[in-house]
Amino acid sequence: MDRTFLMVKPDGVQRGLIGRIISRLEDKGFKLTAAKLVQVTREQAERHYEEHKGKPFFENLVNFITSGPVLAMVWEGDDIIVLSRTLIGKTSVTEALPGTIRGDFAAHTPFNLIHGSDSPQSADREIANFFGPEEEVQYDKSVAAWI
Ligand code: GDP
Ligand code: MG
Repeated sequence: MDRTFLMVKPDGVQRGLIGRIISRLEDKGFKLTAAKLVQVTREQAERHYEEHKGKPFFENLVNFITSGPVLAMVWEGDDIIVLSRTLIGKTSVTEALPGTIRGDFAAHTPFNLIHGSDSPQSADREIANFFGPEEEVQYDKSVAAWI
């Protein structure tokens, strides 16, 4: 079972899309193992987006992600990193296809509603930036054998 860090960004929280975004992840059969509403600090945001440091949009991105609460989550599932990013859709709202979360709900980059880790290494680092190990809940879902 793989795990990933998924985060409803401030635009998703403000627009009241938390429930619908979580529903899509549940519909896919992923398992939620941790969740909390967080006001991201500047330091935490810079750590989270460290691979983008120095890019022209970095400052705006940090301002955006710290502009209001986010819903930080850990989800589990086989191949969840690739599968969740497919469900999320492309980064640019002009390329995100209908049927994806971004394609259906986002209309301007960088307001693209949800973050998803892009590799197991990123997932480990991003999860550690938001959660302690004791915050992840291990449990079985009886439906797992059917997904
Ligand atoms: P993601 O993994 O699909 O979220 O995309 P990236 O890791 O490449 O970028 C992180 C976030 O920065 C994106 O989700 C956008 O919110 C924002 N972003 C990425 N590229 C751009 C850009 O060219 N311009 C602006 N304004 N924001 C961007
Ligand atoms: Mg990324």
